[in-house]
Order: sequence, then structure tokens, then C-alpha cells
Amino acid sequence: MNKVLILPGDGIGPEVTAAAEVVLQALIETSGFSLQVEYGTLGGQSIDAHGVPLSDECLSRAKDSHAILLGAVGGPKWDGIERQLRPERGLLKLRQELDLFSNLRPAILFPQLAAASSLHAELVAGLDLMIVRELTGGIYFGEPRGIEINAAGERRGFNTLAYTESEIIRIAHSAFRIAMARDKRLLSVDKANVLEVSELWREVMETVSAEYPDVELSHMYVDNAAMQLIRAPKQFDVMVTTNMFGDILSDAASMLTGSIGMLPSASLNADSQGMYEPIHGSAPDIAGEDKANPLAMILSISMMLRYTFSEHALASLVDSAVSKVLDDGLRTADINDGSGKLVGTAEMGKAVANALLTNG
Ligand code: NAD
Repeated sequence: MNKVLILPGDGIGPEVTAAAEVVLQALIETSGFSLQVEYGTLGGQSIDAHGVPLSDECLSRAKDSHAILLGAVGGPKWDGIERQLRPERGLLKLRQELDLFSNLRPAILFPQLAAASSLHAELVAGLDLMIVRELTGGIYFGEPRGIEINAAGERRGFNTLAYTESEIIRIAHSAFRIAMARDKRLLSVDKANVLEVSELWREVMETVSAEYPDVELSHMYVDNAAMQLIRAPKQFDVMVTTNMFGDILSDAASMLTGSIGMLPSASLNADSQGMYEPIHGSAPDIAGEDKANPLAMILSISMMLRYTFSEHALASLVDSAVSKVLDDGLRTADINDGSGKLVGTAEMGKAVANALLTNG
């Protein structure tokens, strides 16, 4: 039985999660897809209930699920708490414990929202780019690290960038498999002209590519990739890169779409177990007001269907339902340029569910 753990979290998390659950229910009704759903608490919600951002019980339920759907965590209420107990720590621990090393950050721009981008509409309309970021290695985790006093008595900060061959191999396979399910073009982004780690990265990408003869692999230096992303983003299909390069490039790419409330994400391990969440945070400024855009959360369900359950047709049904409500002119405040019909979180969720029931 397919098992999903739902963690609504804090702020707008519970609101967008509730809207997404209406869609999930419609999907189950219309397709017969079966799913066992459980609930847990994470972040501030968990601190309030259990004194920790991730309880052992919730962690063990997460380990026991095929997929986790997460709203968002954090908020001013918990900002003063000691660092180790903050809401975001629960999220990091979950990623670490489940070994979610492959972070998928799509930059999708529904053509109906092209005017919302910071780039000219014709450069981005229909943009559908997937960035695969290595999430559990690289310079963010490398040892040694620290700030020391050097021989000259000056303070010196240092970090270590290291990737083992096996770490590169597993992210390469993850990226090639994703490219196989898309347009079969994979760009590996590195800095092989300067960094030895990148030299190894590139070599391993080439070696792994022999197992995916249908995928066209190319390479680009990160500085050029950053430039191309702003110049002509539609040239890319799938990009794979290291933790830090991916952190920066995926944030830049997400802004091309102009709407943080539209973008889902996935973090996968080697068994395709995954955590699916919108890229936005808990938006305390609009929490409880039925103003949040639930589409990023709804599109996280689509990613879950695609990447954990290999239900590609069902995932496309969800994507089409989202597209249909945008065609119908429904807009939450964050994507409303004045020409559409302004709706709240719950109404947007219901509209997508209805579109699913009608089309599915
Ligand atoms: P945020 O993403 O919560 O909000 C940034 C801005 O975008 C706000 O103006 C907000 O109203 C708006 N926004 C965000 N999501 C929206 C949506 N679905 N619909 C409409 N508007 C939306 O980022 P922040 O303000 O920097 O952080 C707020 C809290 O969220 C902090 O406690 C932060 O630590 C946490 N956070 C959590 C996650 C996560 O759970 N993965 C990610 C980022 C930030």
C-alpha cells in the first residue's frame, strides 16, 4: 500500500496543505489510486506539542512512509529559541535521517503567468526547467571547517569542498533518470577549469552517461550557466550540480517564474522515497487569512506522483487541472495582475479539485 505522511507545519502550511488534500481526495476518487495517509507534526507545531522540532515518533513514521508532504515550518513565535531546537532543525534532521540527497527544484512558468516574470514574457513563457541539486554533501558539510587564528595572528575562515566518487555517482543516476522521463537532455554544471572536485565530477558524469545512451549529456561552467539562465533559460531541460552551485542557481531560476507560490520541490533518496514541499516558507505575514497560493503545494503532489509512485499520467492530470484553473482566470493575490478573478486559498484548492473531477 502506498503510504504518505502529511506534515502541515506552521503559518500558511496548514492552509495550503488543506487545499492540497482536497485535490488529493479528488484524485483518489477519480482515478482509483490508493493511498494510506498519516499525519504528523514538524517544526513549531511539534515544538509546541512535544518540545522538539522533530519527535522520534514522527521520524519513525517518516521512515516508514514512501513519501512525505510538507507544508512549511517556522515563524516569529519560535525565532528566539536556541538554534538547535528551532523549527528548521526538524526539517534538516528529516533530510539527513532519510538521506534525501537529490533535491529537485523545477522552474516552471505556466504561460498564463508569463507577465509575472522579471524577464520578458517571450523569454520565459512555457519555461520548464528542472534543477537537480546534490543536497547532503559538498562544501556545506565538508570537514575540516571553522575559523582559526593563523600563524600571523590573523583570523582565518575555512571550509572544505569534497565529493567522493560514490556521492557523484548516485546524484548522476538520479539526474539521468529524471532526464529520461523528460526531454532527455542533461547539463552538468561545474567549475572544472579551476576545481579538482569538479574535474572528478565531470569525469564521473561522463562515465555514468554510458548507462543512459538516450540522454544527451553536456557540461557548462557555473559562471556561464548563471549567465545563460538569465539570457535564454528555455534552452535547458535538466541541470545537475553540486550543493552550493545548485543552491544559488535554483534560487535564481525560481525567480524567473516570478511567483514563489507556484513552485514545488522534491528531495529524494536512493529508493525514490521523497519529501515534497513548496519552496516557499510559512509566510507569517499572511497566515490565517486564506490568502496563500496553494498551487505550489498542489504541484508538490504532482511531483510525488511522478517521482515516488511513477504515476506519470496522474501527475499530468494534476498539472493540467492547475493549468485549467489558470486558464479560467482564477488567481490568488500573489499572481493576480488585476485581470483575473481573485480567490482565496480554499477556493483555489476546490477549483483544482473540480477541474480534476471534470477532466479525469
Ligand atoms: P516566505 O517564503 O515564508 O515568505 C516570503 C514572502 O512570500 C512573504 O511576503 C509571503 O507572504 C510570500 N509568500 C510565500 N508563500 C506564499 C504563498 N504560497 N502564497 C502567497 N504568498 C506567499 O519566506 P520568509 O518570510 O523569509 O520566511 C518566513 C518563515 O518561513 C521563516 O520562519 C523561515 O525560516 C521559514 N521558511 C521555511 C521554509 C520551509 O519550511 N521549507 C522555507 C523558507 C522559509
